[in-house]
Amino acid sequence: MSVDLIVKNATLPDGRSGVDIACTGGKISAVEQGITAQAGVTIDAGGQLVSPPFVDCHFHMDATLSLGQPRLNESGTLLEGIALWGELKPLLTHEAVIERALNYCDLAVSQGLLAIRSHVDICDDRLLAVEALLDVRERVKPYLDLQLVAFPQDGYYRSPGAEENLARALDMGVDIVGGIPHFERTMADGAASVRALCEIAAQRGLMVDMHCDETDDPMSRHIETLAAETQRLHLGGRVAGSHLTSMHSMDNYYVSKLIPLIAEAGVAAIANPLINIAIQGRHDTYPKRRGMTRVPELLNAGVPVAYGHDCVMDPWYSLGQADMLEVAFMALHITHMTSRDDMRFAFQAVTENPARVMNLEGYGLVPGCRADMVLLQANDPIEAIRLKPARLKVIRAGKVIAETPPKVARLALDGRPANVDGKDYQPKAAG
Ligand SMILES: [Zn+2]
Repeated sequence: MSVDLIVKNATLPDGRSGVDIACTGGKISAVEQGITAQAGVTIDAGGQLVSPPFVDCHFHMDATLSLGQPRLNESGTLLEGIALWGELKPLLTHEAVIERALNYCDLAVSQGLLAIRSHVDICDDRLLAVEALLDVRERVKPYLDLQLVAFPQDGYYRSPGAEENLARALDMGVDIVGGIPHFERTMADGAASVRALCEIAAQRGLMVDMHCDETDDPMSRHIETLAAETQRLHLGGRVAGSHLTSMHSMDNYYVSKLIPLIAEAGVAAIANPLINIAIQGRHDTYPKRRGMTRVPELLNAGVPVAYGHDCVMDPWYSLGQADMLEVAFMALHITHMTSRDDMRFAFQAVTENPARVMNLEGYGLVPGCRADMVLLQANDPIEAIRLKPARLKVIRAGKVIAETPPKVARLALDGRPANVDGKDYQPKAAG
């Protein structure tokens, strides 16, 4: 028997070690110890972590890498970010959006991030960003799965033309219905927008992913309507509420009733830790709220939870490098989820959980899945979050599409080791 590629001696995210992964015809054909087949290409993982690719289920590819155009966000708030993006929108060109998006995808691939769900603003009658990102979706298809969400950034009802533009964007081939109920003029308008948008998704057989309650206002309760509409229209498993930051500030009694509804409805929660901690709490003096949704409580109720990057160098956030391990790292700090199991969950929240939220096909390290994987310079998922290590090999459909040399420092100290490699510092007793 001969195969196209074998990765030897891998440690998998679930803790299995000494595993070989064989790939044939772009798919995984075997995952077991001691595979002896001849291979066109053999990669020795050396006992290091091999993971399915990173997945970002919440991003804004039309705005990414635009930092400073036409100016910087001085207040750091969501609202100034939206205003700033509104200033940039009329200046966008098709070519510039495509160039920034393709540049970002290059960075993503180098980090082993091979699937992204991006919102695309439809509140521009030209639908220029929609056209550009549909083009990008096709161009990156061989190496990156890009899902697009029709996102009425300035409000589905609040922005004139948004209703028509959203329908046009879906007709053009945008995959998912978005929304932003907390940005509508009234709570009633917000709830009505959730109903209308869920009905559109039900009629068209599409998924829903709404920016929902991205505010510190504890009375922002649109997630309740989103869950109820998901039940009414039988959309369970196809709906995500993004951000849900108001839940941080809600009354505990109300949340004890809300979370079971979200679980029963089959709505997934997407938190965006870097952006939530940077943007929420800006109206507070002290203490300042963290403003991230209630992740442990959602998980305990059985709600699928995934983490997104949301922004990289755009009107809302100045930093980022397409590294989903930075997202996981921030998340476990904000949520106090620092037990070994909790940290392993943080790794799942940037790999398999967002893959499930996006309903990605053929994702995972089992036979029959597409042969997509990442070899990291780390021994296990917790260490990967700690080190944010080099992605030594990024593999797509059985072919290496990106490589990074290992990061090893050379020391010039008498009596001390010649090299320092972060993964040699793993505590032996931690488990
Ligand atoms: Zn967003």
